[in-house]
Amino acid sequence: MSGFFGAVGKKSVLSDVFFGTDYHSHLGTRSAGIAAFSLETGFQRKIHNIQNAPFRTQFDGILEEMDGTAAIGMINDTDPQPLLMRSTWGTCALSFVGVINNAEELTCAYLRENGGQLNAMSGGTVNSTELVGAYVNRKGDLVEGIRYAQDKIDGTALILVLTDRGTIIAARDKDGRLPVRVGKSRDGYCVSFEHFAYEKLGYKNAYDLRPGEIVEIDKDGLTVLFEGYEEMHICSFLWSYYGFPTSTYEGVNVEAMRYRNGGIMAENDEKNGNLPNVDFVAGVPDSGTPHAIGYSNRSHIPFARPFIKYTPTWPRSFMPSSQKERNRIARMKQVPVDELIEGRELLFVDDSIVRGTQIRETVEFLYESGAKKVHMRSACPPIMYGCKYLNFTRSTGDMELLTRNVIVELEGEEGLKHLDEYSDGSTERGKRMRKAICEKMHLASVDFQTLDGLADAIGLPKCKLCTYCWNGKEKNDD
Ligand code: SF4
Repeated sequence: MSGFFGAVGKKSVLSDVFFGTDYHSHLGTRSAGIAAFSLETGFQRKIHNIQNAPFRTQFDGILEEMDGTAAIGMINDTDPQPLLMRSTWGTCALSFVGVINNAEELTCAYLRENGGQLNAMSGGTVNSTELVGAYVNRKGDLVEGIRYAQDKIDGTALILVLTDRGTIIAARDKDGRLPVRVGKSRDGYCVSFEHFAYEKLGYKNAYDLRPGEIVEIDKDGLTVLFEGYEEMHICSFLWSYYGFPTSTYEGVNVEAMRYRNGGIMAENDEKNGNLPNVDFVAGVPDSGTPHAIGYSNRSHIPFARPFIKYTPTWPRSFMPSSQKERNRIARMKQVPVDELIEGRELLFVDDSIVRGTQIRETVEFLYESGAKKVHMRSACPPIMYGCKYLNFTRSTGDMELLTRNVIVELEGEEGLKHLDEYSDGSTERGKRMRKAICEKMHLASVDFQTLDGLADAIGLPKCKLCTYCWNGKEKNDD
């Protein structure tokens, strides 16, 4: 995932972009970059690796080193950006959020038709932002170029451009899987993934882009360059997992959605006779916690925090290169509250179950700490398909998903023809999958939120939501 923040003002916007970008640190852990423009100094840019030091540390001193009345900042899990590039329509800094599934095909087609070169990364692939820029540059007009690139890309492409006129052009992806929000202050305008980032900096909500909409902001206002589309498929995981709790997307707050979601899960368990007789309901920190609060409020089972994550000296981005060290650190961060674990029966709610590695480790740790029984609930339905729009699950293949793994163990490849049944806990196959997960993970019980429950908790019509990773559908009927 990636987050972004850009601003244009009457005075230097570097301070706003520094803090505004920092507020997106929950969306990426690999690299960060800031590009700034002023009529006096032109473009300046800095990119840093943030895997072992947080954004604020790496960009400390930026206010003295850079200057600009317009700037964009990025936090990424993907290739370094923004990139500076020169084209027929001028010089710019370009950034991209999304996934290009047909990157190899687009690279070959570009080189075949244009000759020349594209800079390769160490693995031989082309920096995805450079590829987007190459396609944008194929048209003589920037807006036409952005739309052309978005049409050619199979996946998702949200594009930000800092122009040599000192403006920012923002293009939301065509399906509206990700948000683009515009804020306004006395001194100018900003564009951001997370609206709380600009509200904390004194901006007020001014505008939300429609799917595919392209706007240009300058210090005096916003101009719509392309109106975009009505149809939207916003990523449901924004609410259930990776959106910041204070964020609101399409009018729906993340934290409040998570309470509703947990409440619906408790109601379903009650209805199905599956409400376990446990001492406490707890969340797997951090994003499982609000779902657990909702579950506890609805079921009247006390909420507790049987282990706390020790984070002050372990920034989220700290990533040792060896898997063994990473696992060790993950365990070191989990500090148990013995009194709340020893001899207790606990129900944990996690935001999702992807490969199952994290859950296995958490459950092991709870038993080692003296838990009598551990039950697990996933705040979203069983993940059956890897995300092809945002590369969110980061699986190299669908078979890395715990659900598919278990299904193949149960009945071989044939089982993959019945994913809908496995997803549904009321069917025989659904029950068998849940039982097999319990055995594999040493759980007393496991269950998942339903797709209808998740959509109800979000509160938007299903046809506006992307739910591909759960039901494999590119579009939902209402
Ligand atoms: S497939 Fe899943 S993670 Fe990917 S955009 Fe759709 S809902 Fe989000």
